[in-house]
Amino acid sequence: MNKPFHLGLDVGGTNLAAAVIDSRFNILSRASIPAGAGRSIEAITDDMAKVSILAVERAGISMEDVAGWGIGMPSCVNARTNLLVHANCFGWHNVPIYDYLRGKLPLDVKIDNDANCAALGEALAGAARGHENALMLTLGTGVGGGIILDGKIYAGADGMGAELGHSKLVFEGERCTCGQKGCLEAYCSATALQRDAARAGFEGDARAVFDAAKSGNPVAEGLVDRYIAYLAAGLSTFITIFRPEIIILGGGVAAAGDRLFVPLREKMCECTFGAEEIGLPPVIPALLGNDAGLVGAAFLF
Ligand SMILES: [Zn+2]
Repeated sequence: MNKPFHLGLDVGGTNLAAAVIDSRFNILSRASIPAGAGRSIEAITDDMAKVSILAVERAGISMEDVAGWGIGMPSCVNARTNLLVHANCFGWHNVPIYDYLRGKLPLDVKIDNDANCAALGEALAGAARGHENALMLTLGTGVGGGIILDGKIYAGADGMGAELGHSKLVFEGERCTCGQKGCLEAYCSATALQRDAARAGFEGDARAVFDAAKSGNPVAEGLVDRYIAYLAAGLSTFITIFRPEIIILGGGVAAAGDRLFVPLREKMCECTFGAEEIGLPPVIPALLGNDAGLVGAAFLF
């Protein structure tokens, strides 16, 4: 039987945020509490249940009308072993996360990577609405990636794929947070732009670099152009493999607007296979912000 309401939980290093969403993607209620990283797995998963129950109570509905408990986590979850592989913010490695969560609510549980959930949320109710094949990058502290194929999250064997931020961009390049070298994240995160800015003697974060580039600061313009060249190279690879109908960019860097999107498109035209013959998919900013992950998590059911 189709249940009318969806419960989503977005687990971050700072907050645990839950929402109840109806079948037309309206958010009916919200609840949020501090994540309390550093506590035991039992204590944090108890709070994950507590905040989710609170969202259901605030919506004024019964658990019996909820389709399932969908959870977005800042980690891959191996779909075969049910192990949460690696959640940096909590210091969790190979945690049997389903064992901790099952039975805390009278609902089935599904967990997916938060970047995958954000891509699904944007595809269902945000910038990629109406598209069955979409790709999303979140350009923030790191680079999150999600792929929607035929309307569903594509995560590959064991749910371990679609790690677009860790695709290889430069052989033997900059050190990445994952321990590898030369990942897209090591060039296209806000952190990477700030690192390159510091090396160039520019003080400020990614936003400040983009703002200064808009006002014609030549150092900032050089930094932004180089950043965009790397991002265009990464996106051209993803287009070559997946040919999504649309590409969504989220996260802090995407807020730079035209100073990012206009030259990015030009660069992508130059460096993408088949761009002249068949054009490029649109590359547009995300619409839902932090709600993308919540909506996607809720619609894992
Ligand atoms: Zn990496």
